[in-house]
Amino acid sequence: MRPPTRRHDRHHPGLRPVRCQCFRKQGLSERVLEAMGQTKRHLFIPERSCSIAYADRPLPIGLGQTISQPFIVALMTHLAEVAPDHVVLEVGTGSGYQAAILAHLARKVCTIEIVPQLAEAAAKTLRDLAYDNVSVRLGDGYAGWPECGPFDAIVVTAALGQLPPPLIERLKVGGRLIMPVGPAYTIQQLSVVEKIAPGKTTTRAVGLVRFVPFTRSQN
Ligand code: SAH
Repeated sequence: MRPPTRRHDRHHPGLRPVRCQCFRKQGLSERVLEAMGQTKRHLFIPERSCSIAYADRPLPIGLGQTISQPFIVALMTHLAEVAPDHVVLEVGTGSGYQAAILAHLARKVCTIEIVPQLAEAAAKTLRDLAYDNVSVRLGDGYAGWPECGPFDAIVVTAALGQLPPPLIERLKVGGRLIMPVGPAYTIQQLSVVEKIAPGKTTTRAVGLVRFVPFTRSQN
């Protein structure tokens, strides 16, 4: 990978790698921990938050949105069971951090963001960091990204009251959809949907989370 060309010096004082040691105890897979260790979170957040880039907490990325807490990113990635030949969809690009983690693990990552400024900034960050297997699209991810799928895994990083049927439709048999399901501005259930046969899924809830709302475009 090319060295980063923007924002912060990667040797900024106070920066340290995401603390994989404590995540290891939670039973997260080695591949996910490696991807977390290889991805420099401080390059995805506004400079003023740089000194706390590696704290295990969500941080603002502007326009009312947040980059998730590293543990939740790691957990969702772990639950998605991404393999090296997989094609993965992310809905809610935000800063591009989750997409970058997925890019370490998958063959191809397609990610959709509804806020134009965030989509543009994330695309630039990912391009500057030479994440060549990630494509960013501006739009409402409710309907997925038909030309990019079908998907082995889908990670949705914004909360919606119910599962979006078009996303489940684009999941391969054996594939998984990971998303927070529940009302906006409160807590939601982090849910794992597995497609076990065409038109047939199982869903389980793995814990409570708090995500920003999944918004819908007016078009
Ligand atoms: N995954 C991000 C965190 C995203 S926060 C990261 O690693 O930084 C959730 C993001 O979902 C926000 O940027 C929000 O604008 C976006 N979003 C909300 N509704 C959406 C929709 N319908 N389609 C695409 N993106 C959406």
